[in-house]
Amino acid sequence: MDYHNFIAGDWQETSQSTENVNPSDISDIVGVAAKGDAADLDVAIDAAYAVAPVWAKSTPQQRFDVLDFIGTELLVRKEELGRLLSREEGKTLPEGIGEVARAGQIFKFFAGEALRQRGDTLASVRPGIDVDIVRYPVGVVGLITPWNFPMAIPAWKTAPALAYGNAVILKPAELVPGCAWALAEIISRSGLPAGVFNLVMARGSVVGPKLINSPKINAISFTGSVPTGRGIAAVCGQQLKKLQLEMGGKNPMVVLDDADLDLAVDACLNGAFFSTGQRCTASSRLIVTEGIHDRFVAALSERMAALKVGAALATATQIGPVVDASQLAQNMNYVEIARQQGGKIMGGERVKADTEGFFMAPALITETTNDMRINREEVFGPVASVVRVKDYDEALAVANDTEFGLSSGICTTSLKYASHFRQNAQAGMVMVNLPTAGVDYHVPFGGTKGSSFGSREQGSYAAEFYTTVKTAYTLP
Ligand code: NAD
Repeated sequence: MDYHNFIAGDWQETSQSTENVNPSDISDIVGVAAKGDAADLDVAIDAAYAVAPVWAKSTPQQRFDVLDFIGTELLVRKEELGRLLSREEGKTLPEGIGEVARAGQIFKFFAGEALRQRGDTLASVRPGIDVDIVRYPVGVVGLITPWNFPMAIPAWKTAPALAYGNAVILKPAELVPGCAWALAEIISRSGLPAGVFNLVMARGSVVGPKLINSPKINAISFTGSVPTGRGIAAVCGQQLKKLQLEMGGKNPMVVLDDADLDLAVDACLNGAFFSTGQRCTASSRLIVTEGIHDRFVAALSERMAALKVGAALATATQIGPVVDASQLAQNMNYVEIARQQGGKIMGGERVKADTEGFFMAPALITETTNDMRINREEVFGPVASVVRVKDYDEALAVANDTEFGLSSGICTTSLKYASHFRQNAQAGMVMVNLPTAGVDYHVPFGGTKGSSFGSREQGSYAAEFYTTVKTAYTLP
């Protein structure tokens, strides 16, 4: 299968291409993807820039029809596209299908939002004057996405961008061109005018700087790693370009003595290891009070050891492969660093399967302290560590002692501690008796501190980023 770029309404071949390798079976080439360059990006930017005013004037009905079409097709084809997702990224098949369904729901939600765009009318403080506050599209937006949610993240940026009347350049991650292409292929048949949506598959380091620097791009929405995000922020800050960043996490899950043990173990197993731990909201620091610590570790390690690691498409598999060789090496390296710094390791070894892939057993690291590297730096794999604490106060302090602030969880039966934690956890999302990962699509998503920058994604809050506000004063 050849995945071409979709630029200015046409499928465009590139002089270079790259093979898309199945992480469950490295002999399986999922497809051959375009590897665009700066010239390809130029054509896409010019096309988007030229047509942006046209789409900005589209009616809510036109936008609804386009987004509803895309959402419907994603939902109808979720099994087929979920297979593609699992084959190229390594999530288990139910996770892959679930993600495609989520992408469809997101398009459906923003189809509705296109019809619900509203402004405000306020009385002026001066007599006889009307004040109207109206939202306008930003213009051309550059969307840069990571590999770990190859369908949902492009969806949760593209859908609001189009719903609020913007033109789009989507630059997906190099490891997952198949999903980006499949989404673009549906969009190409949705009735959008040529050039409103452009897919530019290319290396981030090659086209990224041009995309960010272009004066024809009005805003950048980026999800990915902290170093890349900070680099983009430096340029956008210099240019006063609108920017939204969603980056890493080192998400804490607090387990108190009074927690329901089974529920806490379920939440931590899911939050730490499902989707191979490759979620920005994964629970990577389990902060456990001393009265429940030993029982919790015993129960969680037993459940963890029973998880079936294997090929993403195999029905028995609960934990798919790591996405590629370099991520696997990084995971192993962090486990080793934790061992050297005094952590006690359970699991974390390479796993053999019927095919050659990047399989790793989930790792639980106990006897850690919050100053160890394993508790400060994002691993982005099926690796969680346990920090033993005295009481709730220490647990909260340890939970907040991080440069990140994406998602923060607590397992407790105490209303007092749950309420206090909701108010005082330094994170954009707080979970009580639920895994730190796993969110709804109709409410805001994002973090605080070093995890995020700019306004929230998703739900009606997405309007903040994808529109600009104009205040009009009229003396009739
Ligand atoms: P990455 O930073 O390596 O790449 C992300 C995207 O940026 C890719 O499309 C890449 O091609 C592009 N890129 C690379 N260099 C660039 C440059 N110089 N200019 C512009 N773009 C450039 O991240 P990744 O490895 O794909 O994703 C993993 C990271 O994403 C993790 O840190 C994870 O926590 C984070 N993540 C965050 C969220 C969130 O919402 N907070 C969600 C998912 C993933």
